[in-house]
Amino acid sequence: MGAMPTQVEGRRGGAVGAKIDFRDGHWIVPDHPIIPFIEGDGTGPDIWRAASKVFDAAVTKMSGAKRSIVWREVLAGEKAFNESGNWLPEDTLDSIREHRVAIKGPLTTPVGGGIRSLNVALRQILDLYACIRPVRYFAGVPAPVKEPRKLDVVIFRENIEDVYAGIEYKAGSAEADAVIEFLSGRFSAKIRPGSAIGIKPMSKFGSQRLVVKAIQYALKRHKPSVTLVHKGNIMKFTEGGFRDWGYEVAKERFSEQTVTEAEGAKRKADVGKLVIKDRIADAMFQQLVLRPDEYSVIAAPNLNGDYLSDAAAAQVGGLGLAPGGNVGDGYAVYEATHGTAPKYAGQDKVNPSSVILSGVMMFEELGWDDVARAIVRGLEGAIAEQRVTYDLARQLPGAIEVSTSAFGDAIIEHLS
Ligand code: NAP
Repeated sequence: MGAMPTQVEGRRGGAVGAKIDFRDGHWIVPDHPIIPFIEGDGTGPDIWRAASKVFDAAVTKMSGAKRSIVWREVLAGEKAFNESGNWLPEDTLDSIREHRVAIKGPLTTPVGGGIRSLNVALRQILDLYACIRPVRYFAGVPAPVKEPRKLDVVIFRENIEDVYAGIEYKAGSAEADAVIEFLSGRFSAKIRPGSAIGIKPMSKFGSQRLVVKAIQYALKRHKPSVTLVHKGNIMKFTEGGFRDWGYEVAKERFSEQTVTEAEGAKRKADVGKLVIKDRIADAMFQQLVLRPDEYSVIAAPNLNGDYLSDAAAAQVGGLGLAPGGNVGDGYAVYEATHGTAPKYAGQDKVNPSSVILSGVMMFEELGWDDVARAIVRGLEGAIAEQRVTYDLARQLPGAIEVSTSAFGDAIIEHLS
């Protein structure tokens, strides 16, 4: 990390906090970065209390007073609405933009129209084009497959285009009818009158920058392969485009470090290179169940990546342990992948692992790998001891059910 951070503000204990910066494609992380957090609604405060205690303990464990996080609370969801009458105050968006990296608990989705979703707003404003979901097995977690430990993948899902472009018109609307008329008149497309219409735009630019991110991640972490998942046999120009553009950018930008599966590592010089391969989406669902250890980093368009992320998480014991991050160039927001579980709010009961593992992703992105590893070992230790929250305890005969905060403390005891 060459350059020194310039803007100084904020304070935690004796530490003066500074802003994280991003220059020439690299994070510049001060020793005491200011990180905005949204604790979330429902069970969010219980989870955040436990998770932030784990984060602080892990940073202290690995570096004493040399490093710390200067947490800055920003509001969204019910808490923001109760305090300001606004579900998503501009201040929150400004603060996340200014500090570049943030973490959030689950938020209530308000019922009723006209309210902006935080995730959609952040995705658009900060151009968070990669939704990253690591999925791995933690020993001792009940899982529906025989060999869950064979699955260890990181899914990079395109986050802006495809169905997330949100171009959809209701059946019988003037917009849908106009599109139908245009397509049938100009291109003789056969569309049943009165159909609903959805448009699936996928660009070379959007596809390639996602694949580049996946390849860079795989190279940095010495992963064996990147698999492009698509439905290009049917949708040749959108999904097939994703595959072709992916191979193209791998060749153009990473020819020294990658080899395609089709070429194979026939030359001595290609042995040990990152393998780029592709699979058709439906086959990929089978493959992940039958031969999960053949896959490592996965890059997928929006909708396929959506299904694949949850299916993979279910295979290793469910979404309760699945973290997520929405990442762009110089901006990243990490979040729980589950909702607010409102029936348990304030009971100190639910599993905080999704937010804790999202924090692990955050530390890895910022280059604090030692902190990330310590937290993972802490979580492995707590689960191995079978001191777990209700969701895991009810599936594990003999396990001791503990509260959210006690589970966090068990993780802290096992930090190493
Ligand atoms: P949910 O909050 O994910 O809860 C569904 C069930 O999942 C819970 O009843 C519980 O199962 C289990 N669960 C969820 N989080 C858990 C945790 N941390 N530990 C253990 N078990 C957990 O889904 P929902 O009830 O459909 O949604 C509630 C609210 O959250 C809605 O307003 C929704 O829009 C919002 N939401 C927000 C996000 C987000 O901000 N990222 C994501 C999804 C939903 P059991 O009942 O079996 O114990």
